[in-house]
Amino acid sequence: MDREAYRRFELLRQASAQLHRLHPAHVVMTAQELEANFRRPLETWLPDEIRGELTGVLLALSNAPTRTCTELLLEFNAREQYEQTQQLIRRVRDICKAIPEGDALYRSFREFLVLNGKTTRHPLRVLFQPLDLSVEDLYRQPERHEVLAGKMYLCPSCHWPMTITQSHIACPSQWCEHAGSIFDLHRRQVINRLDGNSLKGQVVSDETLVLQDACWKFTLLPSSALALSE
Ligand SMILES: [Zn+2]
Repeated sequence: MDREAYRRFELLRQASAQLHRLHPAHVVMTAQELEANFRRPLETWLPDEIRGELTGVLLALSNAPTRTCTELLLEFNAREQYEQTQQLIRRVRDICKAIPEGDALYRSFREFLVLNGKTTRHPLRVLFQPLDLSVEDLYRQPERHEVLAGKMYLCPSCHWPMTITQSHIACPSQWCEHAGSIFDLHRRQVINRLDGNSLKGQVVSDETLVLQDACWKFTLLPSSALALSE
């Protein structure tokens, strides 16, 4: 077993033990069983007390995390991530208050995040340097499930990269998906399921960066524009 596989196995074993602790009456799953379950609907194997409202599978056939999985993760880390995002935005606002032209700089900063779910290192360095931010404070490398044949497809509504699975391409936000951000792949074209229009991909390079998930959730999503609303 290589190191990565061993780490995965250990995490699965811990998760399985946690599940048993939360729900002792439930049968204990081995690491392999738990991993296999990630591809089965939650409602068929996770006790209702733990599952809550969540339904569906966690991993798509392509191994991409499903929206259920993303939502679970965001909910799980929501409070901590919200606090961190708030703190960071507050810090930027305070810096802007103390420097000349700070108001305009703060506005550009907010505008930049809203318009650039995907960007490259250079404009970020220029914008972030006077704000005492590093690129990694707010952006990350693209994930494998966000790239298809060297291109990324941005959600028309929140401008963040959509998740690519074997069956479709959709924004991880249910709000966006309902607003029409769901696409199918037809003859290498990405076609909107609702209006039939095709969507152009954005070429991904080594320089490509994506806004971090928590910032996306708290700044870009129309349903939760919290952190930047002050
Ligand atoms: Zn979206």
